[in-house]
Amino acid sequence: MYVVGEEEIAALAAAIRSGKLFRYSEDSECERFEQRYAADLGVKHFALAASGSYALAAGLIGLGVGPGDEVLVPAHTYMATATAVLAAGAIPVIVDIDESLTISPAAIEAGVGPRTKAVIPVHMWGAACDMDAIGDVAAAHNLLVLEDACQAVGGSYKGRKLGSIGDAGAFSFNYYKNMTSGEGGGLATNDDAVAERARCAIDPCHFYWQGRNDATRPFAGIGARASELMGSMLNVQLDRLDGMIEAMRAERAQILEGTKHLGNMGLRPAPTHSPEHDCGAQAMFTLPRAEDAAAFAELVPCVVAGQTGRHNFKQWDQVLMHEGAASEALNPYKLPANAECRTTYREDLCAQSLTILDRTIMVATDPRHSAEQTGDTIHNLDLAAQVVFAGADPRSLPFRNRGEVDFVKFDIATG
Ligand SMILES: *Cc1c(COP(=O)(O)O)cnc(C)c1O
Repeated sequence: MYVVGEEEIAALAAAIRSGKLFRYSEDSECERFEQRYAADLGVKHFALAASGSYALAAGLIGLGVGPGDEVLVPAHTYMATATAVLAAGAIPVIVDIDESLTISPAAIEAGVGPRTKAVIPVHMWGAACDMDAIGDVAAAHNLLVLEDACQAVGGSYKGRKLGSIGDAGAFSFNYYKNMTSGEGGGLATNDDAVAERARCAIDPCHFYWQGRNDATRPFAGIGARASELMGSMLNVQLDRLDGMIEAMRAERAQILEGTKHLGNMGLRPAPTHSPEHDCGAQAMFTLPRAEDAAAFAELVPCVVAGQTGRHNFKQWDQVLMHEGAASEALNPYKLPANAECRTTYREDLCAQSLTILDRTIMVATDPRHSAEQTGDTIHNLDLAAQVVFAGADPRSLPFRNRGEVDFVKFDIATG
């Protein structure tokens, strides 16, 4: 969350006063948001859900992914990308990222096996995946593409909104994301049948309110319906989104421009696939060695990508332990239907990704940063480069306003 203000408070108060918090009501805020956001993304359907995790699972179920299928997921993402595959009964196969911190198209190509049905490119930190190359590999191997756009709300790839490019796209509106209702998520797709199946997964009784579609057989979905509190808050947040993303992208561009002269020393910007269009949530730099990254993190407010605590596959306990379901009989790793899937994770899996993650630092942008604050960031990165690459003594250097790294950006802006 970046900015929330009196408008959100008024919208939530109005929803509560209306006495109608169930989404299937007249003048539904959820319905209004779904239509507005589908138009914003340029897709036919958007289905709200209680979380991004559930939106991912509903997306896979909607696409018909299930037992007998493998789904390629990147080594660097929040665990829900992988656990959603298990929730659908399929097996996550973990493949490398590249220096962009997004899934490597070459690793997708190398990772395809006879049972591979889909790939989930994750637009990590709001940075766009290499969607053209991924589209080519997917077409060559007949893979479905479910974009995980949970961290990329508001961003685009070459002018198309992230999450609208693949067969479906999953979004999160939790507290940490670009647009929030505390918790929440949703699925975007152009395919009527995928949308109908996803809506059934999100609410197995949805046809009672939204009408039956005889072309789709209903099935027992778990249920993760959105409430009108979510819809009303998101309708306000959506109005703020474009301005925020523009400000973040502009700040990232300033940081990269202002530190360009440090490239020769070793502070090299990580590659980006659509810098004019993505979220610009982080200025990322690929350093020569992990020690350099660790040293930068001591000197300036930034985070080493491999040290966030929950975004590399070594931290996905349930996946690595093969605990794929609450009940052993439903555990995808044990299902006869998955007998031909690749279910083991080698000890040296994705070593390339782990090395990249420990060499990459991320400097967070913030739509509320002033020009002076951005100037301080550039100044401090310059001094840190003198320390890390040229042996300067940090105690003798005039670092300015080094605040804490602030992952959760919270601000009550009034008016
Ligand atoms: C946040 C996030 C999710 C899951 O979203 P929740 O709303 O927290 O369930 C999935 N994938 C990625 C990459 C995320 O960052």
